[in-house]
Amino acid sequence: MRIELINTGSELLLGRVLNTHQQWLCRQLADLGYEVSRQTCIADDARQIQAAVSESLSRADLVITTGGLGPTSDDLTRDLIAQLLGRELTLDPETLGRIEQFFAQRHRTMPASAKVQALIPAGARVLRNDNGTAPGLAIEARPNPFRAEGRPSWLILLPGPPRELRPMFAESVVPLLTRELPPPERLVCLILKTSGLGESLVEEKIAGPLQKLVESGLELGYCARIGEVDVRLAARGGGAESTVHQAEDIVRRLLGPLVFAVGDESMEATLVRMLTERAKTLALAESCTGGMIAHRLTNVPGASAVLKCGLVTYSNEAKRDFLGVSVAALEEHGAVSDVVARQMAQGARQMCRADYALSVTGIAGPGGGSEAKPVGTVYVALADEKATVVERYFNPFDRETFKWVTSQQALDLLRRALPA
Ligand code: ATP
Repeated sequence: MRIELINTGSELLLGRVLNTHQQWLCRQLADLGYEVSRQTCIADDARQIQAAVSESLSRADLVITTGGLGPTSDDLTRDLIAQLLGRELTLDPETLGRIEQFFAQRHRTMPASAKVQALIPAGARVLRNDNGTAPGLAIEARPNPFRAEGRPSWLILLPGPPRELRPMFAESVVPLLTRELPPPERLVCLILKTSGLGESLVEEKIAGPLQKLVESGLELGYCARIGEVDVRLAARGGGAESTVHQAEDIVRRLLGPLVFAVGDESMEATLVRMLTERAKTLALAESCTGGMIAHRLTNVPGASAVLKCGLVTYSNEAKRDFLGVSVAALEEHGAVSDVVARQMAQGARQMCRADYALSVTGIAGPGGGSEAKPVGTVYVALADEKATVVERYFNPFDRETFKWVTSQQALDLLRRALPA
């Protein structure tokens, strides 16, 4: 089965918006057992969009386009595709009703231009948009005028904004694909997310022991992100489940607690889930991460059940006044030290009356380093009712990466300390 993806939007080619749809859709499709053969990015230009769509329709069983379904003058996709396939556009009262309701619920006047989004090409299926106004469209070109012998193709048009496209894909496109274009072979795919080892070390540990399974059809892949490595285990056809299951056992045995989640669960979501399950609370005392740990945790729905407080104590005075860090410790050891990290965590735990407290203090750079404590030096402490542990890490990266990696190490320190 041949699948092609066309991302439209001049902003993508001007480098003003990162084409995340390309990665996200390819990943979703791959996890479902589909493979995208070609991806094209096109400016908001009528001639180019029609040329790209007709070219893809001449080859592919499924063509997915993104963007250009909105009400503005550069949103051309719907009209151009209707024209290309010779389908008349008619106003769909149900879609118009939904658009009117969208504005009414937000107490906003509906601009006249919004109505064009309710124009539907003849024979198209409407993919409901619960997070915006422009519906998606699914059109079966049967016969397909661009393909030899008129072989049919499906054309799926999705809106540009990621918060509209993603739920629409999950809710409408996946069921449609499963029904109309089932993947050629069953795919079983499992992602194990790991933290604490780099990609090559993860590979060194598991590649050899998995070799036999790879020879009998296991697809083994790695994806390195900042502070994490995903291990992708996949197999196709009969016996796929058992192959992936055996591979998972091997990886878990070899990597043990380095595996922190399955699938898409983030480190922060894992931690919120684990703390919730254990009915435990957390306080934070952040210096060099500037609130990033609190930010990541509060991105997770339900964080309020576990996060009591996050203090960004950047200056020595704040560490002293809000956390009770001793002046002697600050003077003798410096703000970036084992002793201060320890006192920060203990202070936060006490002040906030939490079960656990995490603290971070480090030198993000580019200035402020010394021979004993070079730029990138970080202390992370974890306090609970019995003890306080402090870890020293070395993260010599740009400031943003430094903050991310440090926040990951802190979250991971707590994750590993939580009782099973
Ligand atoms: P709208 O109703 O917002 O006009 P639309 O379907 O017409 O929706 P576009 O106008 O093409 O979509 O894009 C809207 C916004 O969606 C863009 O400004 C951009 O922020 C985001 N967007 C579009 N395409 C992509 C993409 N490929 N990757 C990531 N974001 C995208």
